[in-house]
Amino acid sequence: MTKSRPNILLIYTGGTIGMVKDFETGALKAFDFKNLLDRIPELKHLDCDIETFSFAEPIDSSNMNPKYWVEIAEIIESNYNLFDGFVVLHGSDTMSYTASALSFMLEHLAKPVVFTGSQLPIGDLRTDAKENLITSIHVASLQHFNEPVIKEVTLYFEYKLYRANRTTKINAEHFEAFASLNYPDLVTSGVHLKVNTDYLFKPNTKKRFKVNKNFDTNIALVKLYPGISEALLRAVFSTFGLKGVILESYGAGNCTTETWFLNILKEAILNGIQIINVTQCSGGSVLMGQYQSSELLLKLGIISGKDMTTEAAVCKLMYLLGQNVSSKVFKTIYETSLRGELT
Ligand code: ASP
Repeated sequence: MTKSRPNILLIYTGGTIGMVKDFETGALKAFDFKNLLDRIPELKHLDCDIETFSFAEPIDSSNMNPKYWVEIAEIIESNYNLFDGFVVLHGSDTMSYTASALSFMLEHLAKPVVFTGSQLPIGDLRTDAKENLITSIHVASLQHFNEPVIKEVTLYFEYKLYRANRTTKINAEHFEAFASLNYPDLVTSGVHLKVNTDYLFKPNTKKRFKVNKNFDTNIALVKLYPGISEALLRAVFSTFGLKGVILESYGAGNCTTETWFLNILKEAILNGIQIINVTQCSGGSVLMGQYQSSELLLKLGIISGKDMTTEAAVCKLMYLLGQNVSSKVFKTIYETSLRGELT
């Protein structure tokens, strides 16, 4: 059976990658993605067909929220059978959150979804946008025996393709703006694209692709710091409707062992609030029980975020609460890898 060239849908949501500079005035204006192939003729050399879709009103990614996550997921859902792969252009600031959220929403995904963006506008002389865009489309169009090579949500930036829910934005200036400290790169781009096949996510392709659209945003993210006050934590934990808290602890999951602190956690758990322990270190894992300070947390029933990024932990919490997972199995499901987000 012969198959025509892969076709890729490029979805522009906003961000610097879709900007061009007016060289006379210096002002940034929107790039016209409808005329993409005329503006970036290099794309014609790729062995795939490209169609584009743009948000009616592109946004800076600092305005991202679950409503837009659903909008992106629905664009993918309604085009899922029509395209071989999807490239989502997104501002870099919250890209790891959106891409992590999409990884949970798109269940049994069997096609590539590649998020990318850039540090400099596409029309800038020294832009990183073109390489990011061209290689993202190339990666999304990779096929092996008419099957997509990548079957998961990924993020491409500065010569590396990462598993999206393992990434974090680490630099506001360098072209290498993202890192995946707890999981190896999926593809590295040099003279050739080097695919690290062993690390690719292998979905159960017998199961039907499904899009989960419910998120529950009744959560809080608390970063511990020496001197954090009881009053502040009490205020957070007494937030009306609160259902879950991500606690960014120290090192391998350690927290203060002061009685008032442990009491707040104990009360919250009794009230049915799910508490997840993630480390505020960029790399490494929570290992509750390694030190006495985290052993107490283990005894309280705190959930381990293991080596998840804060971005993935936040999205997973909103996602599982949105799926109404029962409190009996919540801890077990949260601590299980659903899309390769934890080791
Ligand atoms: N503030 C921009 C955004 O996240 C930065 C970027 O595009 O990378 O939308």
